[in-house]
Amino acid sequence: MSTPVRVGVLLLGLVLAWRTVPGILPRADSAAARIAATLETRTVGTYFLELLDDHDQWNYRWPDRRAEPLRIWVQEPRNNPAYDRTWATHVRESFAVWDRLGLPLTFSFTPDSSRADVRVIWVDRFTERMTGRTQWKNNAQGWIVGADIELALHLPDGRRVTTDGVQAIARHEVGHLIGLDHTTDTTSIMASQVYVTELSESDRRTARLVYALPAGKLR
Ligand SMILES: [Zn+2]
Repeated sequence: MSTPVRVGVLLLGLVLAWRTVPGILPRADSAAARIAATLETRTVGTYFLELLDDHDQWNYRWPDRRAEPLRIWVQEPRNNPAYDRTWATHVRESFAVWDRLGLPLTFSFTPDSSRADVRVIWVDRFTERMTGRTQWKNNAQGWIVGADIELALHLPDGRRVTTDGVQAIARHEVGHLIGLDHTTDTTSIMASQVYVTELSESDRRTARLVYALPAGKLR
C-alpha cells in the first residue's frame, strides 16, 4: 500500500476478511431480475460497483438486525496514558452515525465483552501502515456473521492519534464492519486514506444499497 504522508489527517484502514470460499448458489429468475433492476437504477452516486469489483461481485452484509441490534463492546483502557478516556464515546458515536441511516442493521452497546457480537479494542500501533483494522467473517451465502475492530493509539510514525483521527478512523472501520470497502473517492469516509470525518452522500447511498440487496454473488 503506497502511503504518502501529507499534512492533515492520515489514517489508514484495512479490512481483512477470513472469508470462506463460497459456492455459487443459483438464484430464482425473478430475484435475479430484481437485483439487476436495482443495480441498474440505484448505483448512481454510489461506489457500489467499485465495491462489487473488489469483492468478486459478492455483496457481503449482516442479516436483518432491526429487532435484535448487534451488541457492541468498546474497550476502555485504564492506566494507559496514550488513551484519552473520551475516545470510547467517540467510537460509540461512530456506530450511531451509521445507525442513523435507517439500515436494517442496528447497534446497541454492552458493558460485557463476553456478550458482545462485536468487540472494539485498542492497540498501541500496527506494524503495517494503518491505524485501524476490521476483521469480519461471513458464511457461504455471503452473510456477515462476526466481526471485531482494532483501533490504534499511535500512527505508524509514532505520533499519538488525535480525537478527530479517532472519530474518522472509527467511522471508517464501522463502514467496513457493515460490509463496505475502500473507494477511490477521497471525499468518502471509506477512502483508503481518510481525509474527512463525516460520511459523504455517497457513503450513505452505498450503505443503503448494500442493505437494499441480499447477500451473495450478485452478477
Ligand atoms: Zn479501510
